[in-house]
Amino acid sequence: MDAVRLMKQYQQKGFFIIIITNQSGVNRGYFTEEDLGRFNTALVKRLAHMGVRIDAIYYCPHRPDEGCKCRKPGTGLIEKAMHDFPIDLERSVMVGDRDDMDGEMAKRLGIEFINILRAKQF
Ligand SMILES: [Zn+2]
Repeated sequence: MDAVRLMKQYQQKGFFIIIITNQSGVNRGYFTEEDLGRFNTALVKRLAHMGVRIDAIYYCPHRPDEGCKCRKPGTGLIEKAMHDFPIDLERSVMVGDRDDMDGEMAKRLGIEFINILRAKQF
């Protein structure tokens, strides 16, 4: 399992590398959007040092009980990304560690899903 290597491989093939993440800690009051922004900036920098360019990060700040459309497995954040980038959904791949969130979202969109925890090698 090497997520960095996987991202590099897709990036070299011309894919956008977009992070879609549930961050309900924001609306639960565990951390602020500013904290999350700082974390994301650090993450992007760290990945850049490893040779991965992150094209965008989209996050859902809502709690599950808020019933929003952007919390995975909802497809709201992908729809937002599709508005911002010329994404070819049929050729896209969702990579994640949760079958019930990432896998389910991919299923709703009809796209390929790779569970990083089960993937042996890339
Ligand atoms: Zn949301």
